[in-house]
Amino acid sequence: MAPNNTYDVIIIGSGPGGYVASARAAQLGLKVACIEKAPRLGGVCLNVGCIPSKALLDSSEYLQLAKDQFADHGIKTGRISLDLSVMMARKEKVVQDLTENVRRLLEGNKVEIIHGTARLAAADQITVESDSGTSKKKQITTLTAKAIILATGSETVPLPDLAFDGDKIISSTEALKLDAVPKHLGIVGGGYIGLELGSIWLRLGAKVSLFEMLPKIATGLDGQVGRKLQRVLKRQGFKFFMNAKVTQAKALTKNIKVELEVKGKKETVTCDKLLVCVGRSPLTRDLGLDEVGVETDPETGRVKVDSAYRTNISSIYAIGDLVPGPMLAHKASAEGIAAAEIIAGHPGEVNYDAIPSVIYTWPEVASVGLTEEQVKERNIPYCSGTYPFTGAGRARCMGETEGFVKVLAHEKTDRVLGVHIIGPRAADMIAEGVLAVEFAASSEDIARTVHGHPTFAEALQEAAMAVQKCSIYAS
Ligand SMILES: Cc1cc2nc3c(=O)[nH]c(=O)nc-3n(C[C@H](O)[C@H](O)[C@H](O)COP(=O)(O)OP(=O)(O)OC[C@H]3O[C@@H](n4cnc5c(N)ncnc54)[C@H](O)[C@@H]3O)c2cc1C
Repeated sequence: MAPNNTYDVIIIGSGPGGYVASARAAQLGLKVACIEKAPRLGGVCLNVGCIPSKALLDSSEYLQLAKDQFADHGIKTGRISLDLSVMMARKEKVVQDLTENVRRLLEGNKVEIIHGTARLAAADQITVESDSGTSKKKQITTLTAKAIILATGSETVPLPDLAFDGDKIISSTEALKLDAVPKHLGIVGGGYIGLELGSIWLRLGAKVSLFEMLPKIATGLDGQVGRKLQRVLKRQGFKFFMNAKVTQAKALTKNIKVELEVKGKKETVTCDKLLVCVGRSPLTRDLGLDEVGVETDPETGRVKVDSAYRTNISSIYAIGDLVPGPMLAHKASAEGIAAAEIIAGHPGEVNYDAIPSVIYTWPEVASVGLTEEQVKERNIPYCSGTYPFTGAGRARCMGETEGFVKVLAHEKTDRVLGVHIIGPRAADMIAEGVLAVEFAASSEDIARTVHGHPTFAEALQEAAMAVQKCSIYAS
């Protein structure tokens, strides 16, 4: 084998897990190759996930503001209209620029980027199938490494008997590049992806019906926050069908008939696109796991790893959506850094109690730590403080007063157990809550920290003060 086919670490996948692991391993002096089968680097997050969805959420939010709020600020804009192709081109440019940044980052760190589909061949060996220039024949290259990190991510799952057709029955990937606003968008699944994509198309003019099998949306949220979010979205125009099981969907020439079972009763809803976002499954197909003997969880299909991200084969590691835990980009990146550091002989770990989660609806929703329901289930004695954005000067200035901050703290030690925010810029505000959980801060620590005025973060300070019933402004 040629020595240039030998590496310290090979990373399969260039998503936020894989590219971050690649950069960190290279910074630590290792010889690294990152293999990517898609034409562009960056994985689901940059290409068909976090980034394009947020680009469209931001654009559609501007449209909504221009239509509904500019007049309140004394801004006259005349007739507002949508040019969807420009909005999509802008999104594409944001994606293209960021994927190029990933390329520059890896090249700058001397990571060898190899385009092709990787497969495990042995505990220290992979094969890469790639196009061989002009001929149609595929070229197979064998590479060896002391360590291999699997970072192949996840893929959308269809409902049983409801295969994606890319036209009427679509996944999040197609929902991010529609060339016309659907008249009526049906969404199966009330998780964050359904709520965010539903918000985009609702703001752009679609009627949106959301079918959720459970009695509540975004089930991981603190109950009080989840109920508030559903009320707000309903007011914005979402039509929710709760406890609604989609039993069948028939694609007709112009539209699609969705059959539902709602609390034992049958209902039919006709829409022109049906977006199915009922979860994602780890991408382990054709990766050679069985041949090499890498164990997966039979129930979830996720690759089993220990606390050092090592699989049962000691030279093979796995991170990101492929392994247990929330399927989130920042969780994948944190694991990528930890795995790279461990492989380079350093300590590396991720605090799973301090991973924020965010829903980029408007108002945004963000949380970290335990929900009130989880605190009760665990019989932890606790105090809670809430503060509404109506009491925050900055929120008044912006005209965005919907929502509140909730802080949960241990009754005896005052240690912060959870922070839950629904409101303007919650996604950015939650960083302070994450830091509090990470540093095992008390609610008094937040309360006594001087916050700039006027800021949204003052609402978090007031909620922390309310834990000890000493909020200055709460009535
Ligand atoms: C619509 C949508 C919105 C989202 N929004 C957010 C958000 O706002 N915030 C957030 O934190 N998360 C969000 N996510 C989730 C986030 O995208 C994932 O958690 C994250 O991308 C996982 O990173 P990863 O590195 O594990 O895998 P991925 O990003 O899935 O990357 C895996 C890469 O591996 C490549 N690959 C797979 N198999 C092979 C092979 N055999 N050989 C070579 N390459 C291979 C794939 O092509 C891919 O590029 C969103 C997801 C979706 C679908």
